[in-house]
Amino acid sequence: VSFAGYQVCLPSGRSGERGSAYTYVLAGNGLFLDVQGPLLEASAPIAPAQVRGLVEMEPRLFFRRGKIPSRFMDLALGVLQASAHEKYLAIRGVGLDSYSLSEPEQEGREAGVQYSVLPDTVVNLHSHPGGLPAFFSGTDDSDDQGFGVSVVVANLDELFPRARARVCLYGYFWPVPLSWVFEGSVACIDAGLEPEEHRWHA
Ligand SMILES: [Zn+2]
Repeated sequence: VSFAGYQVCLPSGRSGERGSAYTYVLAGNGLFLDVQGPLLEASAPIAPAQVRGLVEMEPRLFFRRGKIPSRFMDLALGVLQASAHEKYLAIRGVGLDSYSLSEPEQEGREAGVQYSVLPDTVVNLHSHPGGLPAFFSGTDDSDDQGFGVSVVVANLDELFPRARARVCLYGYFWPVPLSWVFEGSVACIDAGLEPEEHRWHA
């Protein structure tokens, strides 16, 4: 099996081979990237297009152990708020069916953090201190070249910080609402749901 696979959504079913890491799927509504990891599965839209004769596909994000309970986000917000520097946290799968919040070894500066990536990380979170908004920078893009969800949190000095989530799929990025990642309500504003003109592009 090769690293990348290619499939087409024909009315008679999917044809083509899956890849060992990821699979490009051409559907009636565009091109998707399909990744199935041990903790996370995603079918991310990467290029919309109307392809006549093919079956449409539903974008999908699925946490095999269930969405992350909101208390992990609340705990993370407290840790990020207590730090004057940019900080990186990891939510990892532990045991057979649960999650834990970890703080990997890191060196945080006012803008930027260097960290070691822990195994079984399913969601990573990092802060943007000092008035930097909740957007993903070019540095974030090069840090997030694997498969997983990443969350950026900003406005930590406000009652409700702002956060934004995306699924990272081997160099492709798919913005998703925080409610797709966390179960229950979280104590921050989803910056990804704000109108387009307020969004920042790195
Ligand atoms: Zn960042």
